[in-house]
Amino acid sequence: MSSVSPIQIPSRLPLLLTHEGVLLPGSTMRTSVDSARNLQLVRSRLLKGTSLQSTILGVIPNTPDPASDAQDLPPLHRIGTAALVVQVVGSNWPKPHYTLLITGLCRFQIVQVLKEKPYPIAEVEQLDRLEEFPNTCKMREELGELSEQFYKYAVQLVEMLDMSVPAVAKLRRLLDSLPREALPDILTSIIRTSNKEKLQILDAVSLEERFKMTIPLLVRQIEGLKLLQKTRKPKQDDDKRVIAIRPIRRITHIPGTLEDEDEDEDNDDIVMLEKKIRTSSMPEQAHKVCVKEIKRLKKMPQSMPEYALTRNYLELMVELPWNKSTTDRLDIRAARILLDNDHYAMEKLKKRVLEYLAVRQLKNNLKGPILCFVGPPGVGKTSVGRSVAKTLGREFHRIALGGVCDQSDIRGHRRTYVGSMPGRIINGLKTVGVNNPVFLLDEVDKLGKSLQGDPAAALLEVLDPEQNHNFTDHYLNVAFDLSQVLFIATANTTATIPAALLDRMEIIQVPGYTQEEKIEIAHRHLIPKQLEQHGLTPQQIQIPQVTTLDIITRYTREAGVRSLDRKLGAICRAVAVKVAEGQPKEAKLERSDVAEREVCREHILEDEKPESISDTADLALPPEMPILIDFHALKDILGPPMYEMEVSQRLSQPGVAIGLAWTPLGGEIMFVEASRMDGEGQLTLTGQLGDVMKESAHLAISWLRSNAKKYQLTNAFGSFDLLDNTDIHLHFPAGAVTKDGPSAGVTIVTCLASLFSGRLVRSDVAMTGEITLRGLVLPVGGIKDKVLAAHRAGLKQVIIPRRNEKDLEGVPGNVRQDLSFVTASCLDEVLNAAFDGGFTVKPRPGLLNSKLRRKYQKGLIWRGRTNMLSPTRRVLDWQADGCLIFCETEVLNTGHKMFDCHFNTWK
Ligand code: ADP
Repeated sequence: MSSVSPIQIPSRLPLLLTHEGVLLPGSTMRTSVDSARNLQLVRSRLLKGTSLQSTILGVIPNTPDPASDAQDLPPLHRIGTAALVVQVVGSNWPKPHYTLLITGLCRFQIVQVLKEKPYPIAEVEQLDRLEEFPNTCKMREELGELSEQFYKYAVQLVEMLDMSVPAVAKLRRLLDSLPREALPDILTSIIRTSNKEKLQILDAVSLEERFKMTIPLLVRQIEGLKLLQKTRKPKQDDDKRVIAIRPIRRITHIPGTLEDEDEDEDNDDIVMLEKKIRTSSMPEQAHKVCVKEIKRLKKMPQSMPEYALTRNYLELMVELPWNKSTTDRLDIRAARILLDNDHYAMEKLKKRVLEYLAVRQLKNNLKGPILCFVGPPGVGKTSVGRSVAKTLGREFHRIALGGVCDQSDIRGHRRTYVGSMPGRIINGLKTVGVNNPVFLLDEVDKLGKSLQGDPAAALLEVLDPEQNHNFTDHYLNVAFDLSQVLFIATANTTATIPAALLDRMEIIQVPGYTQEEKIEIAHRHLIPKQLEQHGLTPQQIQIPQVTTLDIITRYTREAGVRSLDRKLGAICRAVAVKVAEGQPKEAKLERSDVAEREVCREHILEDEKPESISDTADLALPPEMPILIDFHALKDILGPPMYEMEVSQRLSQPGVAIGLAWTPLGGEIMFVEASRMDGEGQLTLTGQLGDVMKESAHLAISWLRSNAKKYQLTNAFGSFDLLDNTDIHLHFPAGAVTKDGPSAGVTIVTCLASLFSGRLVRSDVAMTGEITLRGLVLPVGGIKDKVLAAHRAGLKQVIIPRRNEKDLEGVPGNVRQDLSFVTASCLDEVLNAAFDGGFTVKPRPGLLNSKLRRKYQKGLIWRGRTNMLSPTRRVLDWQADGCLIFCETEVLNTGHKMFDCHFNTWK
């Protein structure tokens, strides 16, 4: 077969080394190019080449090319196929590679490898002829029967195939039109043959040998087809049949036969699922959906992504507590005891919760409002919710809503989405496994909004007793009855709760605790809980009340008790280390000499140092039990105090006053600072103030300017026009926190009055109140929290608007006792209370009318009695130095009465 042919392939061919598939002359195949040499070949020969010759390659089969360019060329198969590259497709993902479409031309044999890098080039010898066969008849004679026999088998094989398929009909035509010599290669690449067999055909250079080797392959294929036709039912698509039969076989499968273990498990699961659906007590509508879905599941091949989705859905449906509930334990007396035992103080909250439970006891299906506990963090809102569940004997589940900004979080994703899942409500029900749990919707005030919808709107449906008996989660797509669920919400503030949601809820304010309450809570609840958590006993650790007070005042500044709880935890941890260190040593000592131990103890007692955890005493000595936590120990464990009573220090110069602010975290004391400098009458405000607060500052300045003469207030140049050549800067510390609201008005006035009068504001006074341009003091909110904050900070007097007097009733008795309150309806009263000795400028003697003087001289005015001086003037008090305090009433044209306090020296 080495006769020279008129059509020649190039004598030097670049070699493409393939390791899968064998290209035979006359056939076409796709091959992937990803090794370094082959990539080089494609880039420099195919992509850059312009001639037809550059598209001819030598394909050497069965040669895995090493990935690294540096490695030597592997041993090459002797014979290859010269191929024409018809198409090059390239991609960069996941790594650079090309796919070539190549058509085999003829066999060749490598004579010599000329070059190995960057891609191999070899001198080759062509083995097949490429021209039309002119001597076909002669060839037929030469091969005689062999070629004829091959042709017959080939025709038989093709005719066994479906001739209606165009490709088969074309193949049938090709059998006649192609030269017989080309048929073995072409048919070998069409019929089912292994790579090894193909390689043998490639190596069969002689035509006779090639025919001989291919005939058995054709016969094998014909036999195979015959067998298949026998077993196959007519007119059934093979693939479809396999798909349709598989699931049914799985369902009706008899264990222990042919199926493998995995399929066994799947069978069992689906049968179980079906059984669960049948026995579950879900409503009819849900049941129908489940039956439909399980039917679909049975027909679905397991590899379909929808299979897992449907199965998960059905599993959730059977797991949901459609009809499963716990029986309520409704004993109000027991509930009261339980609530009292779990929580100290918070009387108002406990009272309202008991009322709610009592009504539930009397009327079973209460469509009452949803309770919403509003208060600073750590005041026990969540823990009361948990207690409610405990008293009712119900399951408890907390749903944290902080930061939720997608309504599918509440209502689930539709099952059409990838990764769809039910919302938090349905998930919660699945977790608790009953349909009447207590759901605590934590932090409803922190719900967000986004493009994915408003979760608050989804919550509306959940919380509306009229609607929630058929709440439809998008994932379930069938209604679930939520009417048995008891919802309790918590929030830090009502300001950010959407109005519609707020309307569905009954707000119960939970204010912060006083220091005394905190001490009680710590000793009744927090310390025992911490001791238990750390495996300590009261015989090992002792925390006296003074220490607790120290922790509260010096290490925490909060309305609730969460930080306090954490600090107590830190103390317990430190003590646990001491106890654990001491135990084995103690045991050792006991075993040795008890007397020696006594000596040790005495030795310690001699040292008058208090026994505390801070002692760096020899570890060989067991710590004295119980370990007493005193201030030294506290400092050692918690570090230096974080909050010192800095109030008096900060009020050591004019231009500082203490205000009271309300935040969602409770009340806070707030220092307002002012300074003045040469300038052009500008007011600078710093500390991240809101618009309302800025307006208060402007109001305060205007009022002071208009009253400057009355109070003898002057700027640095002695002018009553306070802003003349003067700039004022007002700062509200804790600059990073945004502040707003009108209640700082009185504080700003007091601070500026101090700045311009050069007098110090009393360091134990805090104040709150809105002001008007006429100097009236208007009521503000959050009085209780503000008063508690003043008390926490150790202040003695609080100035509040008169119309807020009623709010003082909510302040615990002990706090009221510790503080003195000044109720003011105008700024004069505020200033008089804020400065030692009052603020009113002492008028010149003689300012009082002569009638008054005469009365005083006659002794008609005396301390403790209210003396009317005139219809608008009444004496409040007089002092030993002859100073008379009286108040003037003025009826404003607004109908309000205005009181003005005056101090008068009158000798
Ligand atoms: P909130 O939900 O208001 O942020 P938590 O309910 O989480 O606060 O309370 C924090 C911790 O304080 C809990 O361990 C709780 O038991 C405790 N606690 C708060 N208030 C009281 C109280 N009045 N009596 C007993 N423990 C309380």
